[in-house]
Amino acid sequence: MAGEPQPDCLFCKIVAGEIPATIVRETETTVAFRDISPQAPTHVLVIPRVHHPDAASLAAADPGAAADVLREAGEVAAQEKVDGTGYRIVFNTGPGAGQTVFHAHAHVLGGRDLQRLV
Ligand code: IMP
Repeated sequence: MAGEPQPDCLFCKIVAGEIPATIVRETETTVAFRDISPQAPTHVLVIPRVHHPDAASLAAADPGAAADVLREAGEVAAQEKVDGTGYRIVFNTGPGAGQTVFHAHAHVLGGRDLQRLV
């Protein structure tokens, strides 16, 4: 069922505490933890506790949880002190865009000069 934990999902296992992660913030609806392969001095993933395969399907099925992920991305940036200089929130969506984990997540990147993408 949509939103239910998926047995083979890495990020559902992090939500459940079955796989260790360096958690930097938690709320009732989200978990934020450091990316295992950081691409910037700050590289934190913000995920909803509910399972949806990508950000667009999360927003369609559960707009409140999608808003919580975005709000938490901002809180992470403030906690990491990258909000003053600027940071990037990325939602890779689909394999062609580089998505490798199919549980919705926001990358929060900051702490270095980020090239403009678009
Ligand atoms: P995607 O490529 O947008 O799907 O992002 C998935 C991210 O998850 C990648 O940046 C990976 O480095 C990261 N990742 C994969 N496994 C783990 C883990 O166990 N802990 C933290 N980050 C992970």
